[in-house]
Amino acid sequence: TDKVHIIGGGLAGSEAAWQLAQAGIAVRLSEMRGVEATPAHHTSDLAELVCSNSFRSDDAENNAVGLLHAEMRAMGSLILAQADAHRVPAGSALAVDRDGFSAGVTAAIEAHPLIELVRERVDALPADGPTIVATGPLTAAALAGSIGAATGETELAFFDAIAPIVHRDTIDMDVAWFQSRWNKGEGKDYINCPLDKEQYLAFHAALLAAEKTEFREWERDTPYFDGCIPIEVMAERGVDTMRYGPMKPVGLDDPRTGRWPYAVVQLRQDNALGTLWNIVGFQTKLKHAEQVRLFRTIPGLEKAEFARLGGLHRNTFLNSPRLLDAALRLKSAPHIRFAGQITGCEGYVESAAIGLIAGRFTAAELAGRAIVPPPAETALGALLGHITGGAEADTYQPMNVNFGLFPPIPGRTRKAERKGMMAARARDALAAWMAD
Ligand code: FAD
Repeated sequence: TDKVHIIGGGLAGSEAAWQLAQAGIAVRLSEMRGVEATPAHHTSDLAELVCSNSFRSDDAENNAVGLLHAEMRAMGSLILAQADAHRVPAGSALAVDRDGFSAGVTAAIEAHPLIELVRERVDALPADGPTIVATGPLTAAALAGSIGAATGETELAFFDAIAPIVHRDTIDMDVAWFQSRWNKGEGKDYINCPLDKEQYLAFHAALLAAEKTEFREWERDTPYFDGCIPIEVMAERGVDTMRYGPMKPVGLDDPRTGRWPYAVVQLRQDNALGTLWNIVGFQTKLKHAEQVRLFRTIPGLEKAEFARLGGLHRNTFLNSPRLLDAALRLKSAPHIRFAGQITGCEGYVESAAIGLIAGRFTAAELAGRAIVPPPAETALGALLGHITGGAEADTYQPMNVNFGLFPPIPGRTRKAERKGMMAARARDALAAWMAD
């Protein structure tokens, strides 16, 4: 059979190559570093960590990313094996010696008899042959153009403008209420948090004063798109700008007063399960601690817990819920799979995990076996399901793995016990799936 062509030797591409090679399938792995740099990488090693040296929590009982670590170890992940081999002390987190880690991944890939590592930039999607595209958040421009042409330009983003996402069960529904503006649609598609005049003015002033993060030099010339202006930039334009924008109160009747409030903050459902809700129009570059402090001053969000905080970065990613099938294939060109951050997952671990499953899916396909995605109760299945259909396509933004992506535990459970129950359920589901 043909070699599988993997484009991009980052976290996802290296893991995908390893999984295929370990399944006995030959791979050509194209990595441009060594020939051409990216704005964020500093070396030509595979799987370079561009920023932090942490793979985050390693606690598989209480933390979704820790659970994902455990699942990847069980599936023979190269990235986790090298992370474990180059671990440095970091409490309950899994942190690594970054140079040793990347050198270890590179050596393992170079030594594998079924992997041919080629230092080359690929400028177009291959017309045929099994392919995995894993070129990451900083996909080189020519290939990004080719992907845009194959997917429809509007389905490929170059910036993530992330509004904070809140766990639904931490919103105070004695203060907030369900209603769509003018009762349109289902009539209750939004959760609304009311602000009176004093609260609104205080919130506006606090936004202006809050600490923001700076763009990196190479991000500065990437323009904002309409519709993703940061909320604090909107606040700078005038005291009432937000009240005529995302905080518009018209057509929304506060059930406690029977009237339109002075301003509202609206949240919209973010996943099919209804466990996660994003704050509409609140994409932001405020520092994370500032976001938590400030957004908890919004009536109804005093005890909000955030599945992710807002941000704005250069990031090439697809509208995967629309474009990819359940096995990560491009619906319009199924010989091409996508893997890693370009699918809209976020983070080293998540990117490697999607590389792992893309490699396994390709191996199953080439061996003529049925492709069975991991169950939604596992961390890998929950993340994959979010990317390939669980997320709302219209507001799709990159996402870390978190328990909000897992199906809720049925019946009444105590909050303190829920994560442990989900982790135990995930272990059983993974074992059953792997035994199949
Ligand atoms: P990458 O690891 O970026 O790998 C993609 C590879 O494809 C690169 O090696 C690139 O050189 C290559 N490539 C691109 N285009 C081509 C082409 N046309 N031909 C051939 N090769 C090509 N995540 C965290 O968990 N923690 C962090 O602290 C963190 N900080 C980040 C900071 C920055 C500035 C950025 C941009 C991202 C950060 N991330 C962080 C996200 C992290 O980069 C990704 O989650 C992860 O590296 C993505 O893995 P990947 O394999 O999808 O892409």
